[in-house]
Amino acid sequence: KGQIYFERFFGRSKLNSSSSDTTTATTATLDTFLKKEVCQRCHMLKNYGKVVPIKIPVNEFKSKLANIRNMNCVVIKVVDIMDFSGTFIEDFRHIVGNNPVIVVCNKMDVLPADIHKHRIEDWIRRECKARGMVAAHVKLLSSASKEGITDFIVELEKIRRGRDVFVVGCSNVGKSTFLNALVDEYSNKVEFGDQQEEENGGKKKKNGKQEVKHKEAEPQETPEKEAERKRKLLASRVTTSIFPGTTLNVISVPLWNNSTLFDTPGVDNPSQIIKLLKPEELKAVIPTKRIKPSLVHMIEGKSLFLAGLARIDYSGGLATFTVYTNNNLPLHLCRTDKADALFQRQRGKMLCPPIGLENININNNNNNNYIESDIIGNGLVFDEKMDLSQLTKFSITPEQVDFKHTHTDLVISGLGWIAIKPLSKQAKPFKLSIYTPKFIDVSLRAPLV
Ligand code: GDP
Repeated sequence: KGQIYFERFFGRSKLNSSSSDTTTATTATLDTFLKKEVCQRCHMLKNYGKVVPIKIPVNEFKSKLANIRNMNCVVIKVVDIMDFSGTFIEDFRHIVGNNPVIVVCNKMDVLPADIHKHRIEDWIRRECKARGMVAAHVKLLSSASKEGITDFIVELEKIRRGRDVFVVGCSNVGKSTFLNALVDEYSNKVEFGDQQEEENGGKKKKNGKQEVKHKEAEPQETPEKEAERKRKLLASRVTTSIFPGTTLNVISVPLWNNSTLFDTPGVDNPSQIIKLLKPEELKAVIPTKRIKPSLVHMIEGKSLFLAGLARIDYSGGLATFTVYTNNNLPLHLCRTDKADALFQRQRGKMLCPPIGLENININNNNNNNYIESDIIGNGLVFDEKMDLSQLTKFSITPEQVDFKHTHTDLVISGLGWIAIKPLSKQAKPFKLSIYTPKFIDVSLRAPLV
């Protein structure tokens, strides 16, 4: 790319000149030029030690990474625990061939504290199997809080045995944060596994477990100096490379044993609701803190709004909806016969982030005329306009629900999920009608929590 820009600005002849003087001058100019025009991704990585995501559509991803299945490598597939199906790249086994896959479930810090991790791991294995991916290693972690990262690296070193590593995932699963945490941890010179221990004088295992040894920073080192040291270390380690056989630029990080960790571009999944939102609106949708689930009692003829992004009409006996979304996402319960009018009147106000806000004046704090609905969450208001497609309606009937579980998860891709539990023996069959923007995945699944 640098060469193309260079030619556009300075002309092709200079680059092709055979004169050594010109070549030297050209190389110097090109160097200067490239130094200035280094892509934002490399700039951020080298100067700030941060991986900036780039995105490609899923089909492009599949064709460009087709080589992976012919290589002897380990693949880390990062998924978002908040949106497992929306961030699970389908047909994955076919893409990676027989190479070992580690499914990293990121953002575990947002799940309620009382979850059973082994149950979630089993759940993920079942879901992977249902999608044709057997024998995957499953790791639960949080890249943001770095919980589980050290253990993960120890496990990775055992699995990869000197092989190269590819990190893949949909956009927004936290792949960059994960890579930053990983690179940070590697930059801390953590020593792993038997092989490494042998190299370091054959230190013994403690209580049968691998001992992970951090190289301590100098005692008098200030946080700023420590950050600077890490940045320098990272800058000296990170290089860019071209993935064989393609024009796809991937970031590579040298690992031990002359092997490399490759970051691949984030896969754009059009079925996620976050695709329709602006960055400031994402804050109300993507959870950053531990979720406090909201319990809603549903009866015949009630509708539940998840901000202005989804509406669920309920028909049937008493049921509980336990809503797992960002704590700041406003939830509103109202009568189904008033839901249309409420949506028209309150979208962008109490039902915010909204859908289809074109030509509507947003009047902050004007919620006095909001009588027929119960407010469950906080009413967030943004003053941005949005132009989104019309709602699509999905209907769910009892035949689609697997009653062998105590409850069933209704997933709205990117928004979260609702654990639905009928409380009494249903006198009449219940029915759910879900309205969301077009292309957004709505699905039922066995309960995660
Ligand atoms: P990428 O597009 O896959 O590279 O995703 P990013 O690393 O840019 O992260 C997307 C969003 O998820 C950002 O708002 C991150 O702060 C957030 N995020 C990433 N990892 C975690 C995590 O472990 N926990 C939480 N709560 N948020 C995370």
